[in-house]
Amino acid sequence: MRWSRYLIPTSKEIPKDATAPSHILMLRAGLIRQVAAGLYSYLPLGYRTLRKVENIVREEMNRAGAIELHMPALQPISLWESTGRVAAMGDVLLRLSGPPGDWRAGTVLGPTHEEVITEIARAYLTSYRQLPINLYQIQTKFRGEARPKSGVLRTREFLMKDAYSFHADAESLDAEYRNMYETYCRISSRCGLPYLVVEAESGAIGGDVSHEFMVLTDAGEDQVILSENGDYAANLERATCAPLPAQTEPMHPIEEAYTPGHGRVEEVCAYLGTRPEQMIKTLIYVGPAPAERKQPLRVVVLVRGNHDVNPSKLLRVAKVPLELADPQTIEEVTGAAVGFAGPQGLIDRVDLMIVDRDVATMRNAATGANRTDYHVRNVNPGRDFPLHGEKVCVADIRNVVPGDLSPTGSGAPLSLRTAIEVGHIFKLGAKYSTAMDASFLDRSGQSRPFVMGCYGIGLNRIVAAAIEAHHDDRGIIWPMSIAPFQVLILTLDTRDAQVMQTADRLYDELCARGVEVLLDDRDERAGFKFKDADLVGIPLRIIVGRNSLAAGHVEFSHRRDDVKQRFSPEAVVPHALSLLEQELKLLSGAGKACN
Ligand code: ATP
Ligand code: MG
Repeated sequence: MRWSRYLIPTSKEIPKDATAPSHILMLRAGLIRQVAAGLYSYLPLGYRTLRKVENIVREEMNRAGAIELHMPALQPISLWESTGRVAAMGDVLLRLSGPPGDWRAGTVLGPTHEEVITEIARAYLTSYRQLPINLYQIQTKFRGEARPKSGVLRTREFLMKDAYSFHADAESLDAEYRNMYETYCRISSRCGLPYLVVEAESGAIGGDVSHEFMVLTDAGEDQVILSENGDYAANLERATCAPLPAQTEPMHPIEEAYTPGHGRVEEVCAYLGTRPEQMIKTLIYVGPAPAERKQPLRVVVLVRGNHDVNPSKLLRVAKVPLELADPQTIEEVTGAAVGFAGPQGLIDRVDLMIVDRDVATMRNAATGANRTDYHVRNVNPGRDFPLHGEKVCVADIRNVVPGDLSPTGSGAPLSLRTAIEVGHIFKLGAKYSTAMDASFLDRSGQSRPFVMGCYGIGLNRIVAAAIEAHHDDRGIIWPMSIAPFQVLILTLDTRDAQVMQTADRLYDELCARGVEVLLDDRDERAGFKFKDADLVGIPLRIIVGRNSLAAGHVEFSHRRDDVKQRFSPEAVVPHALSLLEQELKLLSGAGKACN
């Protein structure tokens, strides 16, 4: 391909509103163009990389024994109603609109395909003899993301490889889950991603075991907890830690203290001369009204002053969605203005008290007095509010904070990092097969619901994550496996016939050997072409110029280190070929184990 005849609209401008390096570089290198918020066109260079990622994903899925099919992006909403997921998906589920009774009114744009594939399984998989089977597709997904962000990292339309496996029993699912886990490790390695596998929350997809494939970068929207010695890694939503040591000092009598106008933890601490970790934050939540009652469920939730409630853990304990109460409800429950709530005496005024396990082991804590402008000291769990009983639940409901210790018992400290989720695998169990009545006949002729797994990986996110991991202040540094082209031939002195003839000859020879070559034949200044070459990030570079050619050589360098070597035009082709093969082999990770 000749640069002069191609479409690579590079730009020096740093785009407004773009902060993530991958976003800035994809725009500047002419890989993508924004059409509207969360919607991008892939320009030729960007599309070449996207297709390479797609090929790697397809090759590895096929190698793992999965079978490709294709499902429609448009789906009837009735399928979503059959699993009760219309509400769970909320605004993410994009619906077409039309008059009542019109087909559009009953149609959605697929954000994922569990329902569609389960319907296929229900129709065609009838016997245990057909199991296990893993069916996948590579397809455009649509999601009503409220805040599209960071270029192609979070968009409203994106390409996903989604796979769904069907099994007769849990052991068979375990084996396929492991197979997919290893496949995702291979995909990530081949795409050049420095990845990490973490325990994850299953969310609206469902099931109880799931892992995410993460790439650490500040541009990510996920928070992961890692132990210093590598024995634990989990998404913050899911992460737990060793419980804090129980406090043992003797209990003192409760004392009330005047803290006018001070509702916030830091202010109260300054006033009372205590630290946030010695305070109890008392939060009032409301949930759906219990049966035969109008008034919403009232729940008091307790965490230490330096801790935050983890919404996923809270949901798992409460089993119903809870939200923070409005000021009026808080006043009704506590008898005080917002900021002065305490757990003492509240149990009779709420339906449920959820106590974080690290609150349950505190001694002589400070908290609100349930009286405006007052706090109390020396509140003791078990003495001043119950830790047992029908309405009380003690559990781990908080976010892990840096400095907490690994839950494995190794004593390793935990830290918090920002990451991008590129892939997510789930053990679904029988959630969808039961809801949709999808079953098979087992060995003894009994009808049983399928045990299922599902496995998603975002192709666009892989591209952006690779750039996040591989760039410098001049531009992208593509891993060889997904580079839009493998070799760039950069000509200086384009009006010199010998330069152009040599460049053409090298181009033809490399192409004949199956190498993907871009020839920068533009009649532009050298400095300008070098800047573009750095920005676009093609791994191997051959520079053909008049002076060096007169001395019998061309220059060769790697985008990664810029070390220039001289070769005769005859020797540079085999050198480029051997380097290219070496790099692809390294990326294919022969012998590399995953964690
Ligand atoms: P997130 O938590 O980032 O919203 P998710 O957990 O909803 O993602 P999954 O349903 O697990 O995503 O989808 C599988 C994969 O699809 C993700 O790991 C990611 O790579 C990709 N993906 C999901 N949502 C988007 C999006 N809005 N834009 C681009 N890729 C996405
Ligand atoms: Mg996910």
